[in-house]
Amino acid sequence: MKISYAAIDERASGLINEVIRLRRDFHEHPELGFEERRTSSVIARYLADLGLEVKTGLARTGVVGLMAGSGPGKTLMLRADMDALPVQELNELDYRSSTPGVMHACGHDGHMAILLGAAKLLASLKTSLNGQVMFVFQPAEENLGGARFMIEDGLLENPHVDAALGLHLISILPYGYIGTRKGPFMAAMDTFTIRIHGRGGHSAMPGGSIDAIALSAGVVSGLNDHVRNGLPAGSRFLVNIGTIRGGTAHNIVADLVELEGTVRCLDEAVHPMIKVLMEGFLSGHITPGGGGFELAYQEGYPTTVNDTAMTDLVCRVAGHVVGPDKVIEMPPSMASEDMSFYLQRVPGCYFFVGAGSDDAALNIPHHNPRFTVDERALETGLRMLCSAAAVFLETT
Ligand SMILES: [Zn+2]
Ligand SMILES: [Zn+2]
Repeated sequence: MKISYAAIDERASGLINEVIRLRRDFHEHPELGFEERRTSSVIARYLADLGLEVKTGLARTGVVGLMAGSGPGKTLMLRADMDALPVQELNELDYRSSTPGVMHACGHDGHMAILLGAAKLLASLKTSLNGQVMFVFQPAEENLGGARFMIEDGLLENPHVDAALGLHLISILPYGYIGTRKGPFMAAMDTFTIRIHGRGGHSAMPGGSIDAIALSAGVVSGLNDHVRNGLPAGSRFLVNIGTIRGGTAHNIVADLVELEGTVRCLDEAVHPMIKVLMEGFLSGHITPGGGGFELAYQEGYPTTVNDTAMTDLVCRVAGHVVGPDKVIEMPPSMASEDMSFYLQRVPGCYFFVGAGSDDAALNIPHHNPRFTVDERALETGLRMLCSAAAVFLETT
C-alpha cells in the first residue's frame, strides 16, 4: 500500500488520548435514540473543524462527514451509532453519566469516538488517498432502526456509497481480538403481540365461558415447537414470549390475555414462513373452542449479512492489527443490529472489536448498569477502520 500500516499505527497512537477524551465526554452526556442533540452538535463541529463537508439532520440527529481524497475512486462508508440506553449507571467513574436514568451501556460512546478519531487520522492522509470516505453517525440503533431513516433521507446516494464498514466494541471478546463472519452474522428480529379472546364468566360456573388463560397456556407451551416442526430441519430461529397479561380477578374466567414476544431468525429464506406458521398454530389452537385471536406482527431489523470480499478485507487487515491468531470467526449471533439495513443495499462487513477486560470481575454484559469497555480497544478500533479504509480505497 501507498500508506503503510506502520504510518497508520503511529498516527493512531498519537491520537488515542484524544479519542479516549471524546469517548469519556460522550459517556458523561448520554442521549437516547433520536434525541442525540448535544452528541450530534459535538460531532458536527469536530468534523467541520477537520475541513470535511458536513451534513446534519439525517434521521433527525444523524451527522455525515464526507472526506474527498486527492483523486477519483470509490466511496466507503464508515458507520458509528450514537444512542445511549434507559439505564441508571452504577459505575463510580469521574466521567459517569450526568443524566439520571440514561447511560451509554452498549459502547456506542466508544464507536463515535473511534470514528471521529478515524476522520482526523484519514484527513491527515487524504492527499495519499483516492476516492471518498463517508463518516456516518447514525442515531437510534437500539430498537428504533435509525439506519432505515438515514437511508430514507438519502444517505446512500450523492455520492453513491460503494461499500460499508461498521464495528461494535464487545465485552464477550477479550481485548486484543477481532471477530466477524461471512454471510449471516446477526439475526433478524421481529416483534409481535397476540391478543387471545375468550368469554368471561363466573369461576364457580365456568360452563359456557371460554378461558383465555387456559388458551394462552397452550400457546406459550406449543408455539415454538409448532414453528420448528414447520420449518426445514436445522433452521436457526427463536420465538420467545416476553410478557403475558390477562384476567381481572381471582373468581372471574379471563376473557382476554395479551402476549408479547420476539422472533429472531438467521435464515432469510425461512424468515417469512415464521409469521405464517404462527398464524396457523393460533387458528388451530384457539378458534375450534370458540375463542378468538389477533396477531399483530411487526417486522424489525433484517439479518445482518456480511459480504464475502469485504469480510476477507477486514480479516486481512485485522491480521495486521491484532495478529492472525487473534482474528476469530464468530458463531452467528441471535442478537440483531440495524447495520443490517445498510448491508442489504451495499456490500460491507460488520465486525466485533474485543473490549472485554482481563479481569473477569470487570467483564459485565452489555446493557448492564455497570457495563464498561477496556479503553485499549479504542485504539484497536481506530487502527482497524483507518487501515481497512486505506486498503479498500487503494485496492478496489
Ligand atoms: Zn445495545
Ligand atoms: Zn450496541
